[in-house]
Amino acid sequence: MSVSGESKKYEKALPEVNPVTKPFWDHCKAHELWMQFCESCNEWIWYPKAWCPSCGKRESIKWSKMTGKGTVYSYTVIRQVVDNSPAFQSDIPFLIGLIELEEGPRIYSNILEKESHIGDEVEVVFEDVTGEITLPKFKKKG
Ligand SMILES: [Zn+2]
Repeated sequence: MSVSGESKKYEKALPEVNPVTKPFWDHCKAHELWMQFCESCNEWIWYPKAWCPSCGKRESIKWSKMTGKGTVYSYTVIRQVVDNSPAFQSDIPFLIGLIELEEGPRIYSNILEKESHIGDEVEVVFEDVTGEITLPKFKKKG
């Protein structure tokens, strides 16, 4: 499932794509969630890094496709935006969750629901916000 971006200009801050994070964003553009895994440490690496934060190796890092399924580990309801991005104002209130992916790692993302509960089963959806950037977000499974 995907959420199509609107044609109007996207006014929120966009992630910066660099050579290290580009594979992640390229996969998002293809509506797939991939993450780095260190084969030496047997650990997931998030956010994408040039070398493993545990063992310091570069060559042991492999990209792996995730199921995109997970559960809500914790979440917060954003009711006020204190920075200077009025683009978020119209979204209020919105949910930011710490999602525990099926494979184990936890990532912060939007939960596209009015309310949520810890333990809710969620799955990734992709929002094409510009021609270059597709953001992974989460919705209740079902
Ligand atoms: Zn490692």
